[in-house]
Amino acid sequence: MIEVIRNAPLAPLTFYGVGGPADELYAIKNPEALEEIWAETIALNLPKIILGKGSNLLMSDKGFRGRVFLPKFQKGTWVQRNIVTVEAGKSWQSFVEETNKHGWEDLCKLSGIPGNVGGFIRGNAGAFGVETGDKVLQVEYLDALGILRKRMQPDCGFAYRESRFKQNPDELVVRATFRLDQPAGPEMALNATKELMAERWAKYPPGRSGGSFFKNPVPGEVFAGKLLEEAGAKGDTIGHAQVSERHANFILNLEGKATQNDILTLARKWRDKVKADTGHTLEPEIFICDEYGKKINL
Ligand SMILES: Cc1cc2nc3c(=O)[nH]c(=O)nc-3n(C[C@H](O)[C@H](O)[C@H](O)COP(=O)(O)OP(=O)(O)OC[C@H]3O[C@@H](n4cnc5c(N)ncnc54)[C@H](O)[C@@H]3O)c2cc1C
Repeated sequence: MIEVIRNAPLAPLTFYGVGGPADELYAIKNPEALEEIWAETIALNLPKIILGKGSNLLMSDKGFRGRVFLPKFQKGTWVQRNIVTVEAGKSWQSFVEETNKHGWEDLCKLSGIPGNVGGFIRGNAGAFGVETGDKVLQVEYLDALGILRKRMQPDCGFAYRESRFKQNPDELVVRATFRLDQPAGPEMALNATKELMAERWAKYPPGRSGGSFFKNPVPGEVFAGKLLEEAGAKGDTIGHAQVSERHANFILNLEGKATQNDILTLARKWRDKVKADTGHTLEPEIFICDEYGKKINL
């Protein structure tokens, strides 16, 4: 089943709260309904973008001149005692808690990070040395012809905030299968999740953002936040965009009034300063989208 909404404002659908209206928004309840329309969109070369929870996206103030796909399918199926398949539209947090209730603590360290399963797979979201792809067995996705295909974990190209799905915007993640191997019992696993979630949200700067703006230039060794802090970025403001006082790698949308341009101007300023000071090149972690679905390079 597909619900089509025309002229749909995107700002309320993203954490950043930036984005004008999309020409067409397709809310899709089951993946089979998507196959034909996905293939048609690609064949006609129409601008398209997939929207999960919108926690890692910075959309254009001009909106979107094409089709925005909103996967709403979120079924979960336990295939075996420790193997679970989950659809892309499922909220990551509720999926983690579901695995906890079955007694597994493998995904606890990824709790509290906003997003849906599809976004986690595509960006290989991670924290505390754990990445989504670590526990994946296989991923099912639609290809450019709308055909459902399967890729086993070693072929998914998982790396730091990377995957093959990220490299190919014509592939839509439909569902992923995870194999879990860290039993803890439901109560302990749920408690670990709750503790980590509380710890994480206490650290996140208050206000609207898309999470860490830049990737760490050398994962696990050189941290974007530290470089930005040392460059003096904290608190700097352009228009209604501000580098958080609490965490220099978070650029905030003040009062919900920042434009995409405010945020990009501020990001470019501090990317250039870090380059001049240290020689490190900062690349955005956030997907910065123009009104035709193309990535805007900083
Ligand atoms: C406060 C805050 C803290 C954060 N902390 C972390 C952190 O600690 N670690 C971390 O890794 N990330 C972090 N993030 C970033 C974000 O939570 C992750 O990137 C998350 O995985 C994004 O999921 P989403 O559903 O919101 O994706 P969206 O933001 O909706 O989309 C992100 C990208 O994925 C694509 N996409 C979405 N669904 C699909 C699909 N089904 N198939 C193919 N492509 C798809 C979109 O087109 C887009 O290009 C944080 C964000 C915020 C706001």
